Amino acid sequence: MPPAKPKAAPKTNESKLARLGLRTDMDLVLHLPMRYEDETIIVPIREACLRGGHVSQVEGVVIKNDIAFKPRRQLLVTIADDSGELLLRFMNFYGSQVKQLAEGTRVRARAELKHGFFGAEMVHPTYKVVNEGAPLPRELTPVYPAGEGLSQSMLRRAIADAMKRIDWQDTLPPALLSSMQLSNFEPAVRLLHYPPQEIDAGALLDRSHPAWVRMKFDELLAQQLSLKRAQRARRVKGAPVLKAIGALSDAFLAQLPFRLTGAQQRVLAEIRADLTNGYPMQRLLQGDVGSGKTVVSALAAAQAIDSGYQAALMAPTEILADQHFRKIAAWMEPLGVKVAWLTGSLKKKDKIAATAMVESGEAQLVIGTHALIQDTVQFAKLGLVIVDEQHRFGVGQRLTLRNKGSNGKTPHQLMMSATPIPRTLAMTYYADLEVSVIDELPPGRSPIVTRAIDQNRRDEVIERVHAAALEGRQVYWVCPLIEESEALQLQTATDTHAMLADALPGLQVGLVHGRLKPADKQEVMHAFTAGEVQVLVATTVIEVGVDVPNASLMVIEHAERFGLSQLHQLRGRVGRGSAASVCLLLYQSPLGQIAKQRLMTMRETTDGFEIARRDLEIRGPGEFLGARQSGQAMLRFADLETDQWLVEQARDVAHSLIHDAVDDVVEAHLARWLGGREEFLKV
Ligand code: ADP
Ligand code: MG
Repeated sequence: MPPAKPKAAPKTNESKLARLGLRTDMDLVLHLPMRYEDETIIVPIREACLRGGHVSQVEGVVIKNDIAFKPRRQLLVTIADDSGELLLRFMNFYGSQVKQLAEGTRVRARAELKHGFFGAEMVHPTYKVVNEGAPLPRELTPVYPAGEGLSQSMLRRAIADAMKRIDWQDTLPPALLSSMQLSNFEPAVRLLHYPPQEIDAGALLDRSHPAWVRMKFDELLAQQLSLKRAQRARRVKGAPVLKAIGALSDAFLAQLPFRLTGAQQRVLAEIRADLTNGYPMQRLLQGDVGSGKTVVSALAAAQAIDSGYQAALMAPTEILADQHFRKIAAWMEPLGVKVAWLTGSLKKKDKIAATAMVESGEAQLVIGTHALIQDTVQFAKLGLVIVDEQHRFGVGQRLTLRNKGSNGKTPHQLMMSATPIPRTLAMTYYADLEVSVIDELPPGRSPIVTRAIDQNRRDEVIERVHAAALEGRQVYWVCPLIEESEALQLQTATDTHAMLADALPGLQVGLVHGRLKPADKQEVMHAFTAGEVQVLVATTVIEVGVDVPNASLMVIEHAERFGLSQLHQLRGRVGRGSAASVCLLLYQSPLGQIAKQRLMTMRETTDGFEIARRDLEIRGPGEFLGARQSGQAMLRFADLETDQWLVEQARDVAHSLIHDAVDDVVEAHLARWLGGREEFLKV
């Protein structure tokens, strides 16, 4: 089968259609209805009136045609059939319509029946003038997703025309279709555009009908094929071969104050194996907050250094980068590793010195923020790139760091995220990515108890803060997120700080927020880490990665304003030591439905994957990942929740098509379903 060559849609209305992404005939044909109207039957007027409140289609002859002026100008047309009379009311109308609906004209009208002051009526019905005995359509009438300036009739015509022109050849071989019990392409598409009147309407609406299943499968298959091809493209790029284990790795492991968990060992083995390949690793390391990703990434860095290469670790905030630097330098420097520190807030002189160390290769490990991806930073021999909290970075930023390899070698890339992505989502949306999961917390952690408390019981909460501090524990107090105004958010944090300092005499209360100078921020964080500050008032800047095991109480104000994953991240700042930890979610009533669901989820589980699953349920995948990463336009028909089984099948089929090199099928299928949109998946 040769790949179908996309033909351009006809010139008329082209730009309006293009705005809906409908550029080729095939695009039009695959623009499937969202619902249908039943114009296949006519109901006697009397019966329609009795049923009331439903959309019905009636047919009658105009017996009266008036323009009324009260309460405003409107056209009133009365039609009659053998069973009764009905008023059609038009608030906006053209002069031509008055003539068109002259007495004696036969019309078919369709709308919801209302009972008005003068009896039954239809307001602004869709109608058409017909001859007596004009045949009724035998199929349901499609209603398409439409855009501005595009009428249904225009879309219907464009799609019907396109259906005459396209090449209907099935992209998938018959043997595959029958083994998977899938419908053929052409009948499935035709049925979805023009379903017969007697069809199972429920199966059409919830998209469980076999015709829908075929569409969803095709769409998912195209996506999987495209992912697999991107993967192949990556494999032909060269990457440094980092031999599995060396002196540094051994020494590092030997001096760690703890043993790696089983899960850490497993993911480390996966990463180690990848690094020995001659093509670049692209792996996402997922693990719930506190699961111990940092040490795994440090061991990956050790492998690069053991092989004579540099490693770079980039974190989204200075606080987090600083914390990594302290921790990892404390592990590595005693073993003779040269660690450089590079952030935007460095003094110019220090920045130049750090950059020079990176360029000469003296620095074996570089830790920092976005400053790492500046043009001025050049690596002597970059072998491994580690990106922490990867979802905080744009795709472009991650790519820039990856492009800092030398000698035509692409460095390996390890991305880390505590925002767990459900398996289906990872499989379908994350282009060309291997995923490792740490699904076990280090031993000795005690579970976090979560409670939701009404705002007006703040005094009790402050009392608990006091009690915890007296026991030598530390407390985070997170100020409300105020999306509309950063100034207001700042003000609230300052006020809260003053209020707590006042209410808790004898305790050290610190304040950290986004507007603090990096040096001041660091000072507060260090004081908190050292235990000199007992209560830390913070805006959401502490959201990512902060690690203070002695903190065991987390208070989140206006918890109803936060999203689920954000709440989970925040809560993950406690429960890192052996003390029993508590998270108090202060809320302001009354709570909306979604907020209620979120707080309930937080109380019910601390499992990040379960929380992510519910988040997906509440919000849907687009918002979950942000449009930028989701490649939203890619999945129009399949639903990741209900169609998980199809995702798995599509992946298997994609695997065997690529593996068996059935290139013509692959090409034809991608051309049909992705057209020019494949680049979406390249990142
Ligand atoms: P995250 O995965 O959220 O980035 P971290 O890497 O910050 O978690 O680890 C959380 C804490 O757990 C750190 O203090 C770290 O030193 C500690 N830790 C990591 N692995 C283990 C382990 N196997 N046993 C005990 N403590 C560990
Ligand atoms: Mg971390």
